[in-house]
Amino acid sequence: MDLVNWAGNVRFRAERIATPASVDDVCAILSGPGPFRALGSGHSFSLIADTDGTLISTAGLAAAPVVDAQSRTVTVGAGIRYGELARALEAEGWALANLASLPHISVAGAVATGTHGSGDAVGTLSSAVAALELVVPGGDVVRLRRGDPAFDAAVVSLGALGVVTSITLDIEPSFEVRQRVYENLPLETALADFDALMGAAYSVSLFLRWGDRDVVDQVWTKSRSAEPPVLPGDPAPAAGPVHMLAGVSPAACTPQLGEPGRWLDRLAHFRLSHTPSAGAELQSEHLVPRRHAVAAIRAVRELADRIAPLIQVTEIRSMRADSLWLSPAYETDAVGLHFTWLPDQPAVEAVVAEIEAALAPFQARPHWGKLSAMDAAGRAAVWPRLREFAALTREFDPEGRLRNPYLSFLDEL
Ligand SMILES: Cc1cc2nc3c(=O)[nH]c(=O)nc-3n(C[C@H](O)[C@H](O)[C@H](O)COP(=O)(O)OP(=O)(O)OC[C@H]3O[C@@H](n4cnc5c(N)ncnc54)[C@H](O)[C@@H]3O)c2cc1C
Repeated sequence: MDLVNWAGNVRFRAERIATPASVDDVCAILSGPGPFRALGSGHSFSLIADTDGTLISTAGLAAAPVVDAQSRTVTVGAGIRYGELARALEAEGWALANLASLPHISVAGAVATGTHGSGDAVGTLSSAVAALELVVPGGDVVRLRRGDPAFDAAVVSLGALGVVTSITLDIEPSFEVRQRVYENLPLETALADFDALMGAAYSVSLFLRWGDRDVVDQVWTKSRSAEPPVLPGDPAPAAGPVHMLAGVSPAACTPQLGEPGRWLDRLAHFRLSHTPSAGAELQSEHLVPRRHAVAAIRAVRELADRIAPLIQVTEIRSMRADSLWLSPAYETDAVGLHFTWLPDQPAVEAVVAEIEAALAPFQARPHWGKLSAMDAAGRAAVWPRLREFAALTREFDPEGRLRNPYLSFLDEL
């Protein structure tokens, strides 16, 4: 079997791949001895989904979305991708509050790793989960709703509690978004008025490269109202559509220039119709409490000489606090410092370790699906419920059938 992740930096070691099409199929698989790991759309850069046993592809667990208008929720098969879900919701006049940068990722895979978009008032994609159904090792089905004792632990689960078969998400009536891009905002201006900048629209992303210019190359704003955002420093709007990578055609990007359009065609940066099956890049991301954001960006700025030769682009995003134990925004509004790197893994890992050290004073949490060198003690220091989560995994999975080397830090806690 030769199966790799989207970036091609993880070659899965699995002996076999299972393709369940129903909850019963998943129960039958999880009645076996393991080891197992669920695999969503394979967009993680870390070894989180790897196993030398059975990889359980969730692509066939794609039950069509069922909307409950009264509770304003939608229930979907765990393997469905956000783009497909978004189209089905829009057809019925509904929307999700946010999307990640691309709509090709599976709902359960994104939720399991605390995936997020940007927006001061918007939570991570995981925070939209209202209920989930999972099959635990041994084959029993467990259903959890918001408010149940284990719920806050079981949403951002790292796939360590069971295989999620369906997910219920909060929805709202469909809405329009206007996307505008502004260019060349001096970094010092951005940092001097960081809260005003990040709060200037429903969703704001800053793109920069840490080079000599010391500018935020692009500010991407997504607004739900017609008025253009008022940005500190008043940077100039881009003259035409742009890609966040210098010199790359914007054809893959969602419409810009303030033209109003449906939420599902604007909240992600990349169009669903543009399907990058593989990417010549690596990613890392660290998320810091909002109050530390400016100091954390300045600390990373000190490493500009080390970062610049390997960076494709950095994206800075914000999100609202939530109560999910392993969320990047657990009990704090958070700001994510994301890095899209050139695909030179040894060199990138060395710089990521330096960034991690520079961000240590700011309680930085690494993204579960991206590159990080943080050990068990480091993770426990930034996720206060991590030891309780580790104990819960032993309850749900006493024989460790869902463990893999990536998750071995849970056994050190
Ligand atoms: C080009 C690109 C852009 C990205 N943009 C963003 C972004 O904007 N914001 C952001 O936060 N992240 C981003 N990511 C990271 C990505 O969202 C996460 O890695 C996410 O986990 C990918 O979802 P997936 O379905 O591919 O999960 P996979 O990589 O397949 O799996 C991730 C984890 O989820 C578990 N899992 C999957 N399905 C299930 C299930 N049914 N039950 C239990 N566990 C399950 C797996 O076991 C594994 O542990 C990006 C990645 C790429 C490649």
